[in-house]
Amino acid sequence: MSIEENLLRIKSTIPANVSLIAVSKTHPADVVMEAYNVGQRVFGENKVQELAGKASEMPDDIEWHMIGHLQSNKVKYIAPFVSLIHGVDSFKLLKVIDKEAAKNNRIIPCLLQVHIASEETKFGFSPEELKFALQTGEHHQYKNVEIRGLMGMATFTDDEKVIRSEFRALKQLFDELKESYFKDVLTFREVSMGMSDDYQIAIEEGSTMVRVGSAIFGTREYT
Ligand SMILES: *Cc1c(COP(=O)(O)O)cnc(C)c1O
Repeated sequence: MSIEENLLRIKSTIPANVSLIAVSKTHPADVVMEAYNVGQRVFGENKVQELAGKASEMPDDIEWHMIGHLQSNKVKYIAPFVSLIHGVDSFKLLKVIDKEAAKNNRIIPCLLQVHIASEETKFGFSPEELKFALQTGEHHQYKNVEIRGLMGMATFTDDEKVIRSEFRALKQLFDELKESYFKDVLTFREVSMGMSDDYQIAIEEGSTMVRVGSAIFGTREYT
């Protein structure tokens, strides 16, 4: 299957209110351009250097999303152009993004990453940590970031029940936080969940953004 066929097939199964982030990590710009050339404009990368490199090589009308773990000292390399940072897992990082956004006269949209999987290695706030952090109100002082919602990754498993219950828990947490801390904040509206193997389940459970890589570009040599 070509990239074009993959994209068309996936898009036909995604409702219009769900955004498709084409995860282009590890694939060179000329390959990623095949998706651009059939209309894809939103791409996700998980490494700062690769993200900045492709952004400089590829057309300006692309929205670049940082989907991976982001170190504070690297925020400055993507602050001038990044459209959405999915993996904000501490208020310390949020503060750095705010500072770098201000230097660039920008407001950078961010998602707070929540640890929903059973594996220990995945980054993110626990639901309790996140509630505690929001309770402090510290985020209100960061005027150059906009918290758009939550992001999470399900456990790497074939067990659909486990995946579904983790996605459901993330959506429930989103609803709860929306009610408690973002009630009249219209921009708090995204739940980024779902990848190549589980995006359909994620959509059924309320995802508004799916991050799909290998189902579009084929399997990666490395991750
Ligand atoms: C790589 C990656 C994806 C895409 O994974 P696929 O299984 O190739 O669709 C999605 N989200 C994050 C955070 C990733 O690092």
